[in-house]
Amino acid sequence: MIDNKKMCEIIEAMAEKIQAQKDFLTELDNEIGDGDHGINMARGFGAVKEKLPGMADKDIGAILKEVGMTLVSTVGGASGPLYGTAFMKAGMACKGMAEIDGQQFLTAFSAAVAGIKQRGKSEEGEKTMLDALCPAERAIAEALNEGATLKEALGKAVDAAEDGLVHTKDIIATKGRASYLGERSLGHQDPGATSSLLLLQVIEAAL
Ligand code: ADP
Ligand code: MG
Repeated sequence: MIDNKKMCEIIEAMAEKIQAQKDFLTELDNEIGDGDHGINMARGFGAVKEKLPGMADKDIGAILKEVGMTLVSTVGGASGPLYGTAFMKAGMACKGMAEIDGQQFLTAFSAAVAGIKQRGKSEEGEKTMLDALCPAERAIAEALNEGATLKEALGKAVDAAEDGLVHTKDIIATKGRASYLGERSLGHQDPGATSSLLLLQVIEAAL
């Protein structure tokens, strides 16, 4: 179960993790992109963190929606609209809810992933954040189906996202800036898949 207070804690911890990993994310993006992923994410989540005090009394849907809108409006790169859409779609799935259980989390997570695919015109296997998020979504669904708690399910999601992230080294980018490199994108892990793993780790740790 995640209530609105816990959700605000998770968002704050996400902002801290992104800030702490800013240089690492930027280094990864230097290799196959334009070297701004950490900067973009830190700017976006920095703005989100400033808005957190005003979110404390809102329901989960409203919190996630505001996070998404803030990311869209403060992040210049591709990742801003994509993560922003993800949080907004998750927010719509949790509209008016003061707390969410495992199945509701999964519904929101699936809506987020579907939103990224739609907005990015992308699919799993193109060396993007989806290569961490899609395996994570499947892992959560499978674990909940087998009766796992939400925390246990998130543990499986983190494992699946880690495997997915490692796999991004073995595939050629066909979406985003890294796609300009073609085969030269091989051997490098995707920055967006890396930030997605970090965010999942934060959720798991907070539960
Ligand atoms: P930009 O590419 O505009 O510089 P960032 O560096 O912040 O933006 O983000 C790059 C990340 O965004 C990539 O590593 C990838 O995971 C993700 N990304 C880019 N394009 C897409 C897309 N069409 N669908 C899903 N994810 C994408
Ligand atoms: Mg970039």
